[in-house]
Amino acid sequence: MIIQLNSAISPTQKNELIDELYNNAYGVQEVTTKEHSYLIAQGGKQMDIRSIGNKPYVQDIHVVQAPYPLVSSSWKEQPTKIHLNDGVQIGRKELSIIAGPCTVENEKQIDEMAKFLVTKGVKLMRGGIFKPRSSPYSYQGLGLEGLKLFHQTAHKNGLQIVTEIMEQNQIEEMYPYVDVFQVGARNAQNYKLLGALGKVDKPILLKRGFSQSLDELLHAAEYIFTGGNEKIILCERGIRTFEKSYRNTLDINAIPLLKQKSHLPVIVDPSHGIGLRNHVSSVALGCIMAGADGVLVEIHKHPQMAVSDGFQSLNFSEFSQLVENLELTFQLKNKIKPFY
Ligand code: PEP
Ligand code: MN
Repeated sequence: MIIQLNSAISPTQKNELIDELYNNAYGVQEVTTKEHSYLIAQGGKQMDIRSIGNKPYVQDIHVVQAPYPLVSSSWKEQPTKIHLNDGVQIGRKELSIIAGPCTVENEKQIDEMAKFLVTKGVKLMRGGIFKPRSSPYSYQGLGLEGLKLFHQTAHKNGLQIVTEIMEQNQIEEMYPYVDVFQVGARNAQNYKLLGALGKVDKPILLKRGFSQSLDELLHAAEYIFTGGNEKIILCERGIRTFEKSYRNTLDINAIPLLKQKSHLPVIVDPSHGIGLRNHVSSVALGCIMAGADGVLVEIHKHPQMAVSDGFQSLNFSEFSQLVENLELTFQLKNKIKPFY
């Protein structure tokens, strides 16, 4: 059960309400986000919830069966739209395109890329600064000075940035220079990091782990929400299977399922999903038809020269073509009758 509290509730009233729930054998957890205050009541006896819902300091009450109540769709009429600065929005009838290099390499690279992205109408530039490389011998990223440069160059061109955070203790130093924090596949179940990002008032792009079930992904998102941050974007980026012809198995099935189970926006990362440059675009379009709210793609002016993931990065002309096709596909998706 989710109980939304009025901001005017007094501490005494809240304690009385919690006692009433305890007396009915409920476990109660308080969740306070930037926007709202909630009590999550679980277990408990059958009771007439109107006795709680009618209290003047209770804004609303919802019976939610899902084990991840706050991110579940069952209590929200509309899917969530995430608002960033400068009117940029993610989710609910918006097509989001996030693009940029796997790794931020130098100022020239990101300045050229930012200028190019602006001509394509893209508002969010991605780029890795702290890279979670599978090998300790691979390039690990530019570090904090690189982040400052990335942020400054992007903002100078009117773009906002999405970049990966790997550890809880980086939040403070990264915070001023990040618009959207990405949690990568390797950290998808780092609950300390997820909880700590709950304290941050910036959106979190949460990638699915290599072997994470959808329920586990939604539980991970619930950690961020219960920590206090409602601005969560889910990202399907492929899982590990026996198939070795491509980098990961992008789970297109996850898209309609996540959208059914959760009110959060769902985007896809076909670059890490299929990991084959020639096929990134067709997978991206398929995911839009399956209901994704947007895509995150890796691009590079000269993919063969990229420091990392060049084999899956689109060049500028391939990306231009993709943007046109994404817009057409999104329009078509919104025109055709809903599938269910
Ligand atoms: C990335 O987006 O650069 C990345 C490392 O992705 P993932 O965590 O999905 O592997
Ligand atoms: Mn990459």
